[in-house]
Amino acid sequence: MRIAMVSEHASPLAVLGGVDAGGQNVHVAALAERLAARGHAVEVYTRRDDRRLPQRVPLAPGVEVVHVPAGPPRTLPKDDLLPWMPAFAAVLAQEWADPQRRPDVVHAHFWMSGVAALEAGRATGVPVLQTFHALGAVKRRHQGDYDTSPSERLAVEASLAREVDLVIATCSDEVAELSATGAGPRRVRVVPCGVDVEHFTPHGPALARTAPSRLVSVGRLVERKGVDTAVRALPVLPGTELVVVGGPPAAGLHRDPEALRLTALAADLGVADRVRLVGRVEHADLPAVYRSADVVVATPWYEPFGIVPLEAMACGRPLVGSAVGGLLDTVEEGRTGALVPPRDPAALAEAVQPLLEDRRRRERWGRAARARAVARYGWDRVAAETEAAYADVLTRQGRAVPARTPLDEPLEAL
Ligand code: UDP
Repeated sequence: MRIAMVSEHASPLAVLGGVDAGGQNVHVAALAERLAARGHAVEVYTRRDDRRLPQRVPLAPGVEVVHVPAGPPRTLPKDDLLPWMPAFAAVLAQEWADPQRRPDVVHAHFWMSGVAALEAGRATGVPVLQTFHALGAVKRRHQGDYDTSPSERLAVEASLAREVDLVIATCSDEVAELSATGAGPRRVRVVPCGVDVEHFTPHGPALARTAPSRLVSVGRLVERKGVDTAVRALPVLPGTELVVVGGPPAAGLHRDPEALRLTALAADLGVADRVRLVGRVEHADLPAVYRSADVVVATPWYEPFGIVPLEAMACGRPLVGSAVGGLLDTVEEGRTGALVPPRDPAALAEAVQPLLEDRRRRERWGRAARARAVARYGWDRVAAETEAAYADVLTRQGRAVPARTPLDEPLEAL
């Protein structure tokens, strides 16, 4: 199959841990690679946000990243990108007008990619699948006036959900949210995000400890990730340190507003000596950080999916997190972790404490978490389910499902 992915702001080549670079970048890169490994040819279209970027960059065997000139060739906040989507669509439509370059399916990631993919797909007869990654209605509910998304977002998402050929939701909570937009069950299928279970493993080096017990939090350093909930839990968890990964590299933390807020909060609560903000950590180095944890905590206000809990599970660590979004599916309560209401430090401490006091239970939950990550969330299974979704769309439309393309056949020869 020839597969186009559109990920307008989240390039699979981007650095992780910045304000706008997170799970979507990881997801698109891993999914593209695993689909290619299954014998498909994948092109990932992303906005050209630096004039030095070549038009095409190989990402992995069978995967190319295509930089689309749409808007100024510099980094823009994702909330400013909507006006450039018609230009993005025009580039796609022009490319796909040539039957030699036309994909069998296009899979859009995030709502604005859907705008471009649907326009180009309809103009050239390419079926469109949509993964939202996050929904504007949920963001608006939680962030209210702080939500900087374009005002059109909710209406555009609702119409995309009704118009694309299939919505791929990442968790059951998203299916419930989508039904409110009129996208019934036949239009939506759940395929979760995945985790690299060969990279994130329980065995290997672990970051050194500086206290008897350790909690680890990993994620973009933005308020809605709720790291302050973990800081607020510390006063009743003596002997426990909290390692916070994310945000700018360590040298830039003193200028980062969320880092400053968390540092001030820790000082107010008298726990500054037990909160360690380490800044951005390369994806490659993260397993050692997860492994150093007794318990990984993830306490967002809301979470469309949450790859961090999966990474923690794959590293064999129990997770205590907010009972929201994707965590409701990924965390098996009382077996791999515990779920607590968001923004509730007392509930978090109450769930974490018995785990910190019981090494056996931590090990048992950690083993179950690893097994669950491998069995359900390995990228091979996620890629196979995504491939099946593409094939179903083609079949439903009476189209042939193309055979896999051998990897050694160059893209140009297709
Ligand atoms: N991440 C990273 N380094 C950091 C912070 C985060 O590599 O310093 C990665 C993290 O390992 C995970 C992703 O960024 O793969 C975050 O994904 P998640 O779905 O948890 O949250 P999002 O950022 O999409 O809201």
